[in-house]
Amino acid sequence: MGEFDLIRRYFTRPSPGAVVGVGDDCAILQTAPGMQLAISTDMLVEGRHFFSDVDPHALGHKALAVNLSDLAACGARPLAFTLALALPSADGAWLRPFSAGLWELADAHGCELIGGDTTRGPLNLCITVFGEVPGDAAGPARTQALLRSGAQAGDDVYVSGTLGEAALGLQHLQGRLQLDALAAAACRARLERPTPRVALGLALRGIASACADVSDGLLGDLGHILERSAVGAQLDDAALLACCPWASSGMDAQHVRDCVLNGGDDYELVFTAAPEYAAAVTAAAHASGTPVRRIGRIDALPGLRVVDSAGQAMAASRQGFDHFAPADARPRSTAP
Ligand code: ADP
Ligand code: MG
Repeated sequence: MGEFDLIRRYFTRPSPGAVVGVGDDCAILQTAPGMQLAISTDMLVEGRHFFSDVDPHALGHKALAVNLSDLAACGARPLAFTLALALPSADGAWLRPFSAGLWELADAHGCELIGGDTTRGPLNLCITVFGEVPGDAAGPARTQALLRSGAQAGDDVYVSGTLGEAALGLQHLQGRLQLDALAAAACRARLERPTPRVALGLALRGIASACADVSDGLLGDLGHILERSAVGAQLDDAALLACCPWASSGMDAQHVRDCVLNGGDDYELVFTAAPEYAAAVTAAAHASGTPVRRIGRIDALPGLRVVDSAGQAMAASRQGFDHFAPADARPRSTAP
């Protein structure tokens, strides 16, 4: 099977949302009046972001999911994506389930594949997603997108879904942690098939003051919000532990805490909102069918503090994953 046969067979479908889709030198998207494009790229490299023997269906899902998660974090509605693929060989037994996993998630979000590039090489997947957010009549530099900047002292801090499960799933797969069958299946599913919180991101427009997705660990990603917003935060240890459904299953609390704070690959949203929007946050969570939990408060003091039930500060020094940090300073043994 040649390059163009491969593209036609596995990566070409009608894309009625685009003016021009796969098959020309460029894809063409029509932007709607008053809307702005939100664009994000994420690359997945074999051996770094996924195991060589990972289920290709799950990999197709995840490659798109991590990109949709970035649109979710901005409150953008998915429109389309491009797929750049390096493949060691044109193997139908791998391409069929990979493309099926990709299409299923694309269909679920009405996000059309409109182009890409295909080349021979070590397995590498790079997706660029395009989404739309309403602009703001007040000027071209304004947007209704949720940004990392915008958190203010006094705002509540929330996270969606669960945290730490992907990290537990990874440790289980690596043989570094023994989970019972139920926990292992749940955590592995969270690692391999993350749920991008697109509906929640859309529902939070006009409500959240700042938002990011949790891909590199909560401390790191909330840290980006704090830095861009020039504020600090105080997090409640009990609320953090409650973010991981396995915290009460006899697992070491310090280990769970570490996975919640530093585990990557969760693809949940961390966001802030003024206290007067608390009911609106609950309504957005309900409307989008996404659990949301308050984990703390933004304050003016820079940095991030975790406090126990007595209000005493606990150590929370480690940060998110950094591919280029010195090896001995890396908080985790695999990359998000
Ligand atoms: P060019 O060389 O002009 O960049 P190609 O010949 O590489 O274009 O690709 C032909 C068409 O197939 C283009 O429209 C491109 O966007 C599309 N395409 C290539 N690879 C993929 C892929 N993996 N998924 C979807 N579309 C692809
Ligand atoms: Mg090309």
